[in-house]
Amino acid sequence: MSSIIQHIIEGNLLKFYKSKEWFQIRAEALRRDNYECQMCKEKGKYHKAENVHHINEVKHRPDLSLTLDNLLCLCIRCHNDVHDRLDQQQKKKDKFINEERW
Ligand SMILES: [Zn+2]
Ligand SMILES: [Zn+2]
Repeated sequence: MSSIIQHIIEGNLLKFYKSKEWFQIRAEALRRDNYECQMCKEKGKYHKAENVHHINEVKHRPDLSLTLDNLLCLCIRCHNDVHDRLDQQQKKKDKFINEERW
């Protein structure tokens, strides 16, 4: 497990996503969420889960990369939406920092 986290710290995300540890926990998350997109479900819709998302991004919290509670099963569309939103938040934060500085 620690070597997996080491891959992330070193920026080797591909190795992480190809590890059997990830496959195992990913399968567990899918089973837990009934192979269903959890964001669609919240909106009262059904879509099969296609991706497993890290609520706290692996880059930021490598220690949570294999924690079931940090995983959320989503369809590709919802997964893209989540990441678009995260990107925008990050951009706003960057902008804020820049404006603060100048
Ligand atoms: Zn969805
Ligand atoms: Zn994600």
